[in-house]
Amino acid sequence: MLKKKITKILVGTNNTGKLKEIRDLLPKNLKIYSTSDFKIKSPIENGKTFEENSLIKARYFSKKSKMICLSDDSGLEIDVLEGAPGIYSARWGGKKGDFVKATKKVFKELNKKDKNWRIKKIKARFICALTIYGPNQKTINSVGKIEGYISPSIKGENGFGYDPIFIPKGKQVTFGEMKASQKYKIDHRFKAFKKIKKFF
Ligand code: IMP
Repeated sequence: MLKKKITKILVGTNNTGKLKEIRDLLPKNLKIYSTSDFKIKSPIENGKTFEENSLIKARYFSKKSKMICLSDDSGLEIDVLEGAPGIYSARWGGKKGDFVKATKKVFKELNKKDKNWRIKKIKARFICALTIYGPNQKTINSVGKIEGYISPSIKGENGFGYDPIFIPKGKQVTFGEMKASQKYKIDHRFKAFKKIKKFF
Protein backbone atom coordinates (compact mmCIF):
# COMPACT_ATOMS: atom_id res chain seq x y z
CA MET A 1 0.00 0.00 0.00
CA LEU A 2 1.07 3.57 -0.62
CA LYS A 3 2.07 5.28 2.59
CA LYS A 4 2.18 8.86 1.41
CA LYS A 5 1.60 11.00 -1.65
CA ILE A 6 4.37 11.39 -4.19
CA THR A 7 5.97 14.85 -3.84
CA LYS A 8 8.80 14.65 -6.39
CA ILE A 9 9.16 12.64 -9.55
CA LEU A 10 11.40 12.08 -12.54
CA VAL A 11 9.57 12.10 -15.86
CA GLY A 12 11.25 9.24 -17.69
CA THR A 13 11.26 10.36 -21.29
CA ASN A 14 13.78 11.92 -23.66
CA ASN A 15 10.93 13.01 -25.95
CA THR A 16 10.48 16.77 -25.44
CA GLY A 17 6.92 16.75 -26.84
CA LYS A 18 5.83 14.17 -24.29
CA LEU A 19 7.76 15.84 -21.47
CA LYS A 20 5.90 19.09 -22.09
CA GLU A 21 2.54 17.35 -22.15
CA ILE A 22 3.22 15.27 -19.01
CA ARG A 23 4.51 18.37 -17.17
CA ASP A 24 1.26 20.15 -17.95
CA LEU A 25 -0.76 17.23 -16.59
CA LEU A 26 1.12 16.92 -13.30
CA PRO A 27 0.06 18.97 -10.26
CA LYS A 28 1.86 22.29 -9.90
CA ASN A 29 3.07 21.55 -6.34
CA LEU A 30 4.98 18.44 -7.47
CA LYS A 31 8.76 18.83 -7.95
CA ILE A 32 9.39 17.56 -11.47
CA TYR A 33 12.75 16.36 -12.77
CA SER A 34 13.55 15.42 -16.34
CA THR A 35 16.06 12.96 -17.76
CA SER A 36 18.23 15.88 -18.87
CA ASP A 37 18.77 16.75 -15.16
CA PHE A 38 20.49 13.37 -14.84
CA LYS A 39 21.83 13.06 -18.40
CA ILE A 40 20.40 9.56 -18.78
CA LYS A 41 20.01 8.05 -22.24
CA SER A 42 16.90 5.99 -23.09
CA PRO A 43 16.88 2.22 -22.54
CA ILE A 44 16.27 -0.34 -25.27
CA GLU A 45 12.52 -0.88 -25.52
CA ASN A 46 12.26 -4.58 -26.17
CA GLY A 47 8.83 -5.19 -24.69
CA LYS A 48 5.96 -6.57 -26.75
CA THR A 49 3.29 -4.20 -25.50
CA PHE A 50 2.93 -0.54 -24.52
CA GLU A 51 2.58 -1.66 -20.89
CA GLU A 52 5.83 -3.67 -20.97
CA ASN A 53 7.80 -0.85 -22.58
CA SER A 54 6.42 1.69 -20.15
CA LEU A 55 7.57 -0.47 -17.22
CA ILE A 56 11.02 -1.01 -18.84
CA LYS A 57 11.48 2.78 -19.07
CA ALA A 58 10.16 3.61 -15.60
CA ARG A 59 12.31 0.90 -13.97
CA TYR A 60 15.42 1.89 -15.92
CA PHE A 61 15.18 5.63 -15.25
CA SER A 62 14.31 5.00 -11.59
CA LYS A 63 17.29 2.68 -11.07
CA LYS A 64 19.65 5.21 -12.71
CA SER A 65 18.35 8.18 -10.73
CA LYS A 66 17.24 6.43 -7.49
CA MET A 67 14.04 8.43 -7.79
CA ILE A 68 10.38 7.60 -8.26
CA CYS A 69 9.85 7.74 -12.00
CA LEU A 70 6.83 8.25 -14.25
CA SER A 71 7.21 6.87 -17.76
CA ASP A 72 4.89 6.57 -20.67
CA ASP A 73 4.92 4.37 -23.71
CA SER A 74 2.52 5.43 -26.36
CA GLY A 75 1.78 5.19 -30.02
CA LEU A 76 -0.66 5.06 -32.85
CA GLU A 77 -2.53 1.91 -33.89
CA ILE A 78 -4.17 1.73 -37.32
CA ASP A 79 -6.71 -1.06 -37.76
CA VAL A 80 -6.17 -1.78 -41.47
CA LEU A 81 -2.41 -1.98 -40.84
CA GLU A 82 -3.03 -4.67 -38.21
CA GLY A 83 -2.22 -2.21 -35.42
CA ALA A 84 0.97 -0.74 -36.97
CA PRO A 85 2.93 1.36 -36.22
CA GLY A 86 1.86 0.50 -32.63
CA ILE A 87 4.83 0.03 -30.29
CA TYR A 88 7.08 0.95 -33.24
CA SER A 89 5.53 4.44 -33.58
CA ALA A 90 8.69 6.28 -32.52
CA ARG A 91 10.90 3.98 -34.63
CA TRP A 92 8.95 4.81 -37.83
CA GLY A 93 10.44 8.29 -37.46
CA GLY A 94 13.98 6.88 -37.73
CA LYS A 95 16.92 7.69 -35.48
CA LYS A 96 16.29 11.43 -35.74
CA GLY A 97 12.58 11.14 -34.90
CA ASP A 98 11.54 12.63 -38.23
CA PHE A 99 7.74 12.64 -38.18
CA VAL A 100 7.30 13.86 -41.71
CA LYS A 101 9.09 10.64 -42.60
CA ALA A 102 6.89 8.62 -40.19
CA THR A 103 3.63 10.08 -41.51
CA LYS A 104 4.77 9.48 -45.11
CA LYS A 105 5.41 5.86 -44.15
CA VAL A 106 1.84 5.65 -42.78
CA PHE A 107 0.50 6.98 -46.10
CA LYS A 108 2.72 4.60 -48.07
CA GLU A 109 1.54 1.58 -46.06
CA LEU A 110 -2.10 2.65 -46.43
CA ASN A 111 -1.62 3.07 -50.20
CA LYS A 112 -0.22 -0.46 -50.36
CA LYS A 113 -3.36 -1.78 -48.61
CA ASP A 114 -5.93 0.23 -50.50
CA LYS A 115 -5.42 2.94 -53.15
CA ASN A 116 -8.77 4.47 -52.17
CA TRP A 117 -8.06 4.77 -48.45
CA ARG A 118 -8.31 8.57 -48.57
CA ILE A 119 -12.05 8.45 -49.23
CA LYS A 120 -12.67 5.92 -46.47
CA LYS A 121 -12.72 6.26 -42.71
CA ILE A 122 -9.45 4.72 -41.57
CA LYS A 123 -9.93 3.74 -37.93
CA ALA A 124 -7.03 4.42 -35.58
CA ARG A 125 -6.34 5.11 -31.94
CA PHE A 126 -3.64 6.59 -29.76
CA ILE A 127 -2.72 4.51 -26.74
CA CYS A 128 -0.76 5.56 -23.69
CA ALA A 129 0.52 3.26 -20.95
CA LEU A 130 1.82 5.04 -17.86
CA THR A 131 3.96 3.50 -15.12
CA ILE A 132 5.10 4.86 -11.79
CA TYR A 133 8.05 2.90 -10.41
CA GLY A 134 10.42 3.68 -7.59
CA PRO A 135 12.11 2.87 -4.33
CA ASN A 136 9.58 2.15 -1.53
CA GLN A 137 6.83 2.64 -4.03
CA LYS A 138 4.15 0.26 -5.20
CA THR A 139 4.32 0.03 -9.00
CA ILE A 140 1.33 1.74 -10.58
CA ASN A 141 0.07 1.15 -14.15
CA SER A 142 -2.60 2.82 -16.18
CA VAL A 143 -3.71 2.81 -19.83
CA GLY A 144 -5.63 5.46 -21.77
CA LYS A 145 -6.96 5.38 -25.35
CA ILE A 146 -8.52 7.79 -27.79
CA GLU A 147 -10.30 6.52 -30.88
CA GLY A 148 -10.23 8.37 -34.20
CA TYR A 149 -9.37 8.34 -37.90
CA ILE A 150 -6.38 8.98 -40.15
CA SER A 151 -6.57 12.28 -42.00
CA PRO A 152 -6.15 12.01 -45.81
CA SER A 153 -3.40 14.66 -45.61
CA ILE A 154 -1.05 16.25 -43.07
CA LYS A 155 -2.91 19.10 -41.34
CA GLY A 156 -1.81 21.53 -38.64
CA GLU A 157 1.49 22.33 -37.04
CA ASN A 158 0.71 21.95 -33.36
CA GLY A 159 1.66 19.06 -31.13
CA PHE A 160 4.20 16.42 -32.10
CA GLY A 161 4.57 13.02 -33.74
CA TYR A 162 1.48 11.83 -35.58
CA ASP A 163 -0.76 14.69 -34.34
CA PRO A 164 -1.18 16.24 -37.84
CA ILE A 165 -2.70 13.03 -39.25
CA PHE A 166 -4.99 12.01 -36.39
CA ILE A 167 -8.62 13.17 -36.24
CA PRO A 168 -10.25 12.24 -32.93
CA LYS A 169 -13.71 10.67 -33.18
CA GLY A 170 -16.44 13.32 -33.17
CA LYS A 171 -14.10 16.15 -34.27
CA GLN A 172 -13.47 17.63 -37.71
CA VAL A 173 -9.83 18.62 -37.20
CA THR A 174 -6.55 16.84 -36.48
CA PHE A 175 -4.71 17.03 -33.17
CA GLY A 176 -2.16 19.09 -35.09
CA GLU A 177 -4.82 21.73 -35.78
CA MET A 178 -6.00 21.87 -32.17
CA LYS A 179 -4.60 24.12 -29.49
CA ALA A 180 -2.51 22.22 -26.94
CA SER A 181 -5.08 23.10 -24.28
CA GLN A 182 -7.84 21.40 -26.33
CA LYS A 183 -5.83 18.27 -27.12
CA TYR A 184 -4.59 17.75 -23.54
CA LYS A 185 -8.16 17.57 -22.24
CA ILE A 186 -9.19 14.63 -24.39
CA ASP A 187 -6.15 12.63 -25.39
CA HIS A 188 -4.85 9.17 -24.42
CA ARG A 189 -2.26 10.56 -22.01
CA PHE A 190 -4.87 12.62 -20.18
CA LYS A 191 -7.16 9.59 -19.88
CA ALA A 192 -4.35 7.40 -18.52
CA PHE A 193 -3.28 10.18 -16.21
CA LYS A 194 -6.75 10.71 -14.75
CA LYS A 195 -6.61 7.19 -13.30
CA ILE A 196 -3.35 7.82 -11.38
CA LYS A 197 -3.92 11.44 -10.33
CA LYS A 198 -4.90 10.40 -6.83
CA PHE A 199 -1.34 9.27 -6.08
CA PHE A 200 0.01 12.84 -6.21
P1 IMP B 1 7.68 6.13 -27.29
O1 IMP B 1 6.53 5.96 -26.32
O2 IMP B 1 8.74 7.02 -26.74
O3 IMP B 1 8.17 4.82 -27.79
O4 IMP B 1 7.14 6.95 -28.53
C1 IMP B 1 5.81 7.00 -28.86
C2 IMP B 1 5.64 7.62 -30.22
O5 IMP B 1 4.24 7.55 -30.51
C3 IMP B 1 6.00 9.10 -30.28
O6 IMP B 1 7.30 9.30 -30.69
C4 IMP B 1 5.01 9.59 -31.31
O7 IMP B 1 5.46 9.29 -32.58
C5 IMP B 1 3.79 8.74 -31.08
N1 IMP B 1 2.88 9.41 -30.16
C6 IMP B 1 2.61 9.08 -28.88
N2 IMP B 1 1.74 9.95 -28.33
C7 IMP B 1 1.48 10.85 -29.29
C8 IMP B 1 0.66 12.01 -29.32
O8 IMP B 1 0.02 12.44 -28.34
N3 IMP B 1 0.66 12.67 -30.49
C9 IMP B 1 1.35 12.28 -31.57
N4 IMP B 1 2.14 11.23 -31.60
C10 IMP B 1 2.20 10.51 -30.45
